[in-house]
Amino acid sequence: MSNVSRTAMPAGAGRAAAKKELPEHFKSYKHVWVFVELERGQVHPVSWELMGAGRTLADRLKVDLAAVVLGPEGQHTRNAALEAFCYGADLAYLVSDNVLSDYRNESYTKALTELVNAYKPEILLLGATTLGRDLAGSVATNLSTGLTADCTALDVDADDSLAATRPTFGGSLLCTIYTLNYRPQMATVRPRVMPMPERVARDAAHIIVHPLGLMEEDIVTKVLSFLPDRDAESSNLAYADVVVAGGLGLGSPENFRFVRELAALLGAEYGCSRPLVQKGWLTSDRQIGQTGKTIRPKLYIAAGISGAIQHRVGVEGADLIVAVNTDRNAPIFDFAHLAIVSDAIQLLPALTAAFRARLLPESRARIAV
Ligand SMILES: Cc1cc2nc3c(=O)[nH]c(=O)nc-3n(C[C@H](O)[C@H](O)[C@H](O)COP(=O)(O)OP(=O)(O)OC[C@H]3O[C@@H](n4cnc5c(N)ncnc54)[C@H](O)[C@@H]3O)c2cc1C
Repeated sequence: MSNVSRTAMPAGAGRAAAKKELPEHFKSYKHVWVFVELERGQVHPVSWELMGAGRTLADRLKVDLAAVVLGPEGQHTRNAALEAFCYGADLAYLVSDNVLSDYRNESYTKALTELVNAYKPEILLLGATTLGRDLAGSVATNLSTGLTADCTALDVDADDSLAATRPTFGGSLLCTIYTLNYRPQMATVRPRVMPMPERVARDAAHIIVHPLGLMEEDIVTKVLSFLPDRDAESSNLAYADVVVAGGLGLGSPENFRFVRELAALLGAEYGCSRPLVQKGWLTSDRQIGQTGKTIRPKLYIAAGISGAIQHRVGVEGADLIVAVNTDRNAPIFDFAHLAIVSDAIQLLPALTAAFRARLLPESRARIAV
């Protein structure tokens, strides 16, 4: 396994000394693959976000973009493969077998490892979801190749290597990592880091069906029951259109109600900076930032949040950032679109009251941001 990294330098800069000749047996590895995450019949949206990023890489490399779909026999799995063509796939690899009904590391790792060994992609991208992280790690280990986790940018270098950039040193620096001597070059990307590409309806579908040849008796892990994560379901921060968040500047957990009240009125999700989770004011599914959720709302209201780099990387994709802070030199004002120098504890209830006065109940559903 060999990853080479450069810290705080543009992709490719000063990397030549580390470059070795790619071993002969890896030279046939071609094309960009995106793992389409399918769980209980639903495709995770990060898969389509990655198809957008994968399309750009494939076009730069002048190779094909392939979707990889693993799942149980039936229409849901096939539909996921067909849908991939609407997000830019040139072809899809489909492994459809009932041992893949529920995600289990053994069966999914075997299927994906087998596909890679059979069809040899040069780049393999997965979502940095719970499932994707688990699968990517074991597939990379099986293949003895490098894996760059939680990337924030993907690019192709002058010599066609994948330049995978991710935060390092507690998020204070960005580091570009290369897998120079092994294939495939693997990377995971968190939901909402990449923009969602436009869906374009397409009829064309070139699907390669691959048999798995794994029996249920061969798999040690059994799924006895499935309990949905209620917290994860109730907070849909990553995909919310409007997010209101609070930080330490709110002063106390009681004052967080001002964030909740404004969020409820706007039909928004609420979130927070990391210290609030560490203090136990909120659960970790509400944390926004490098080690929490990445968000891309149309409107983000941040109250009493300083805008540390680890928070910034999670919110930069928002269309409109409104920051409320008593300190006019707070770092959040460097990237907020609208800066309000004010005490959040007074401003948030005033904003809520003002919105309430303007929004008649019947017009509430039509908030335009
Ligand atoms: C490895 C690592 C990962 C991390 N991951 C994350 C992450 O995912 N998400 C994250 O958020 N942080 C993360 N952090 C922590 C991050 O570095 C900051 O410490 C954190 O974001 C600060 O939280 P804060 O802005 O709420 O608090 P503070 O930095 O204390 O800022 C509070 C702000 O509130 C303002 N303020 C005070 N009173 C008021 C008032 N009455 N009204 C309005 N404003 C007021 C202050 O001027 C100040 O700007 C991480 C750190 C590390 C090392």
